[in-house]
Amino acid sequence: MRAAIIDKPGSVRVGNVPDPTLNPDELLIRVGACGICGTDLHIADGEFSLARYPIVPGHEFAGEVVEVGRNALQGFGPRDPKVTVGTRVAVEPNLYCGHCEFCRTGHENLCLNYAAIGVTVSGAFAEYVTVPAAKAYVLPEHLSFREAALIEPISCAVHGMHRLNPRSGDAFLIVGAGAIGLMLLQLALRGGASKVAVVDLNTQRLERAKKLGASDTQTDINKLFEDEPLGFDCVIDATGVAPAIEGAFAAVKRGGKFMVFGVAPQEARISLSPFRIYNDEITVEQRRN
Ligand SMILES: [Zn+2]
Ligand SMILES: [Zn+2]
Repeated sequence: MRAAIIDKPGSVRVGNVPDPTLNPDELLIRVGACGICGTDLHIADGEFSLARYPIVPGHEFAGEVVEVGRNALQGFGPRDPKVTVGTRVAVEPNLYCGHCEFCRTGHENLCLNYAAIGVTVSGAFAEYVTVPAAKAYVLPEHLSFREAALIEPISCAVHGMHRLNPRSGDAFLIVGAGAIGLMLLQLALRGGASKVAVVDLNTQRLERAKKLGASDTQTDINKLFEDEPLGFDCVIDATGVAPAIEGAFAAVKRGGKFMVFGVAPQEARISLSPFRIYNDEITVEQRRN
């Protein structure tokens, strides 16, 4: 079958790979749509140390079940009738070991034995992909594959908002108006934010943020202080760029919360003032998938 392959950092090509073979507990999916995540770019650039090469990337996807493994969905009772050949599904790409301390205490996303479809095992930039049956979620009729490919990233954004746990009426600042920043903007507004300012260097992205309800959009973060001299209750970095993260931290109000959402290269470093974190009672949060 055809697939996109990252042979090693810096080398991406489209070529042929062997058709996937189905394990008894897996589903074979014909890929309908797959999103390009910032993480894919980091994998292509060799900036994501968890990746294994060569790799077929692609972890934000949806498609149609074309084969059901012998034991898949079997459990101890009859086979789950909801998933069969032809069922349209979205897929959770993270593969947890189930036996480390974190898996056993309900923090599977912090699993010590991290693996993921499209990062450590073949992903969905291919005609077909195999997935554990337990990771497939049936799609409602009205969602297209393209829309459903956004379920994975928006799930990450929802998890981030749960961790941030804002109060109703909080003023937000989101730095970075890429796909994730724009999702966080919409979640913040629906979650009761009084206003959401958005910063990005790209004015086209800011236009989109404005359309989605951003109260203020700026290319220069310092301009925001004219309207919000005390800063923002909740500040989220959605860039993963070290200087942007440092700039965002400066905009956190006393008693406010700061979330590092963007994925920075692993060796990147930032400089934050511990005195400010102490003196201004700033909560620093972060999220993983
Ligand atoms: Zn992603
Ligand atoms: Zn684990």
